[in-house]
Amino acid sequence: MTWRLEIALQTPAHSALGDLLSYASPEPLAAGTLVRVPLGRREVLGVVWSAEAAAPAPEAERVALREIAAALEALPPVSAAWRELVGFAARYYQRSLGEVALAALPPQLRDLSTVQLARRLKRRAAEGDTAAAPAGRGDVPTPTAEQAQALERIAAEPGPFLLFGSTGSGKTEVYLRAVADLLEGDPQAQAMVMVPEINLTPQLEARFAERFGAGAVVSMHSGMTNPQRLASWLAAHHGTARIVLGTRMAVFASMPRLRLIVVDEEHDPSYKQQEGARYSARDLAVWRGRREEAKVILGSATPSLESWHQSRPATAGEAAGRYTRLEMPSRIRAQGGDAEGALPAVKLVDMNLQPAKTVLSAALLDAIGQRVARGEQSMVFLNRRGYAPVLGCGDCGWKSECPHCSAYRVFHKIDRSLRCHHCGFAERVPRACPGCGNLDIAPIGRGTERLEEHLAELFADVKRPDGKAVRIARIDADSTRKQGALQEQLAAVHSGEVDILVGTQMIAKGHDFRRITLVAALNPDGALFSSDFRAPERLFSLLMQAAGRAGRDAAYVAAQGSAAQMWIQTHHPQHPLFGALRRHDYPAFAAQELDERRAAGMPPFAFQALLRADARTQEVAQAFLQAAAERAASLPEAAQVSGFPAVPLTIQRVANVERAQMLIESGSRAALQKYLAGCVPILHELRQGPAGKGVVRWLVDVDPQAI
Ligand code: ADP
Ligand code: ZN
Ligand code: ZN
Repeated sequence: MTWRLEIALQTPAHSALGDLLSYASPEPLAAGTLVRVPLGRREVLGVVWSAEAAAPAPEAERVALREIAAALEALPPVSAAWRELVGFAARYYQRSLGEVALAALPPQLRDLSTVQLARRLKRRAAEGDTAAAPAGRGDVPTPTAEQAQALERIAAEPGPFLLFGSTGSGKTEVYLRAVADLLEGDPQAQAMVMVPEINLTPQLEARFAERFGAGAVVSMHSGMTNPQRLASWLAAHHGTARIVLGTRMAVFASMPRLRLIVVDEEHDPSYKQQEGARYSARDLAVWRGRREEAKVILGSATPSLESWHQSRPATAGEAAGRYTRLEMPSRIRAQGGDAEGALPAVKLVDMNLQPAKTVLSAALLDAIGQRVARGEQSMVFLNRRGYAPVLGCGDCGWKSECPHCSAYRVFHKIDRSLRCHHCGFAERVPRACPGCGNLDIAPIGRGTERLEEHLAELFADVKRPDGKAVRIARIDADSTRKQGALQEQLAAVHSGEVDILVGTQMIAKGHDFRRITLVAALNPDGALFSSDFRAPERLFSLLMQAAGRAGRDAAYVAAQGSAAQMWIQTHHPQHPLFGALRRHDYPAFAAQELDERRAAGMPPFAFQALLRADARTQEVAQAFLQAAAERAASLPEAAQVSGFPAVPLTIQRVANVERAQMLIESGSRAALQKYLAGCVPILHELRQGPAGKGVVRWLVDVDPQAI
């Protein structure tokens, strides 16, 4: 007897092969079973998809079907809910089912042979494969009134919840308790906790492991080795890991008893995957929570405007949103004391009134100096790494352009290199100007490396209370390239070795620094006038986050007789964004932005997608998109959709490839979805024809984060 199976496989990207391929099997297999099948001359991993798969194959078809190589029957099948999640993600983000399914499985599962996998599973079983019981709660703080109220509502209501809590209001403590309540009430239940950045996972992992025992928690993020990822996946899939903690990829974890999903810092752009299936892990988490009846908590001090709008209370003109908003406006007070955990005072420095070329205003330098003298820490934040963004010649006007990209190469003084941050092209700094031979080529502008150097000069003679010289440290993507470097540098900050910390947005997010009482943002103006309509939203949340690093330990601040401050140097001190920031008033900022978006018909009041094409020339890329739009005009949904002309991306050329995009907008999500589903076959077909000549790739980005 032979059975016919429909199997999801990783077929080559944009191939004409359908979503599912048929294979023969000598025995019926349950949907969700993982199998190894021949594809071309390779053998690959696949997932048995439909339940009808078990129908015996008609005689006539049997000859045509290839037989599967093996079924991984030692592994429980992935659940129907998991397959639905993958199916939804594939449809919504316009990718093939197989691609999304296989990308959602750990890489080693794809690579290990059946025998190797069986051996791995046997070893797991021998090591004791039972659901870890949560450890004792240990030293658990009593919830504040705000925390208690949030927890009560989480227990009593269905959600999804938007936990809107100031930085330091104890959101993480709410997650820990919500997870604890769940695990205690249901000995099988599992919880997923997502964070935006890999480098925040060790911190959070430590907090969860302390509370629940290391055996109960597994991590999932791209910084792990393949064997580690497989081990985490298996623990989640078997239900032995009670808590999965990870970055966006964790949203696809196979968790048969998932009952709670937490998305921390839900506004963070890194929840949006930027290659392959460009999914939003936050949005998928909400979808998954509804499908699997898992409660969803989205947490942030500066929610995305989408989530904020979705949690609006009912008004005269508009029904309430679908999310339940929970508010925790107060910072945690000092334990035992009555010191207010006040948010830092925001000080705006008008750079128009400073002498030309001022990097750090005198007032800011003075404030930092006072803190050094008291043994407190300061953090100076500049969103640009390297020494200088451009190297240039004053004589002939030569600049350090990248030959392969429409961007400048950044000057890195440490290794005297010019490095392109887009394509990676790097060269040693030329001795003389390549344009005119001038020996005096100079850095233009400033990155974190140069700022670090500058601060070291300015504070060369200032001493700490222990009489030692000021210690300045820098944390950015360059300083943390080496494995473990970041953890080491963070430890130096936590232990108080560092007086002034310089860095990019990497240091602005999440870290629970206890002795920082001053945070300064040096040059945030660019985002105020960006062509990307989300730039102000991102700037506001970044500055609020950064401010949240100051004065986290109310008792410390009080004992120091100090006051937490956030300094912003700007040429536009009157800008309303800074006004709202000064009052720590996210709702006011959000209300104003939402008014503007509503008036302009932009998200969350409309839905967007980008069609993108990369090609040898800009003309080819644009013409390809234009041709697709013309053919798509005959789709039934075209009337409900507006398409804009194809335009170059802001950074038009990267690694010698020209990039163009076309914005598609609609007031109806469903119409946009149908229209895009109609576009995909058109794009496939055009790519094969004359219009596709010179096109390197195309893609669809649904709900794009950057326009
Ligand atoms: P958030 O995630 O909102 O920034 P955290 O949960 O990290 O805030 O809490 C900030 C600090 O306050 C942490 O050091 C945490 O241990 C402490 N904390 C949280 N809740 C309480 C509480 N109920 N009592 C005492 N301390 C608390
Ligand atoms: Zn020159
Ligand atoms: Zn380049």
